Amino acid sequence: MREAVSLIYIVTKATIDKAYTRCNMNKPIERLKSVRQRIEKACIAAGRQPGEVSLLAVSKRHTSDNIIIFNGLGLVSFGENQLQEALQKQGELNKLDLQWHFIGTIQSNKTHAIAEHFQWVQSVDRQKILKRLSAQRPDHLAPLNICLQVNIDQEPQKAGANPEEILQLAELAHGLNNIKLRGLMAIPRMTTVPTQQHDSFNKVKALFEKLKNAGHDIDTLSMGMSSDLEVAIAEGSTMVRIGTDLLGKRDT
Ligand SMILES: *Cc1c(COP(=O)(O)O)cnc(C)c1O
Repeated sequence: MREAVSLIYIVTKATIDKAYTRCNMNKPIERLKSVRQRIEKACIAAGRQPGEVSLLAVSKRHTSDNIIIFNGLGLVSFGENQLQEALQKQGELNKLDLQWHFIGTIQSNKTHAIAEHFQWVQSVDRQKILKRLSAQRPDHLAPLNICLQVNIDQEPQKAGANPEEILQLAELAHGLNNIKLRGLMAIPRMTTVPTQQHDSFNKVKALFEKLKNAGHDIDTLSMGMSSDLEVAIAEGSTMVRIGTDLLGKRDT
């Protein structure tokens, strides 16, 4: 048993070293430290415990080597928004014990693969997708963790259910066998006006509380990205999704 453990360690260490030589990642340790400090500061300012907010590394359009490096630094949860890209990385990284979150637009012909290859889906915004994910989740796997995506500012071009549809979606989720409703995900309107940012996040939090009051056993309020994680945490976020400030700029 001890041998097996140390063997895994050696493989992992070598894998990490190789990843460092191949990638052009700029100061991953410093980036992670800085993001963690921002989360901690925001929690303290809000009178919350830093342990209340988890960190999802958004690895879309970053290489598998970058994921290896951040996994070596202790991160296990990674977010992807394109199925094909995610499946390729999952294949390359199948020796690592990672938790994959799907955070992109879901076409109904992709639900089968998503239900099979992810632990979380944070971008569910309609009944049809919810039903298909539950029906297509393999029975030997734990229920799929779901966040309902809410289009909190009701922007026409943006994915997400309307706020008034959320309660009904949650009821449906509750009755489905192979999914576990965990909470809400939102991407508020782009703005640099702090009061508007607070307003949007606060509306998501209120909806989250409404679901809880309706009896839903949920624990995840996924909101906050590189540019607004502080505001999101001030308004009650329990999971921030960070791409740029962790892994660097994306090309496209
Ligand atoms: C890309 C993306 C993020 C990360 O955004 P950054 O600004 O790079 O931190 C978070 N959530 C979703 C849904 C995304 O698509």
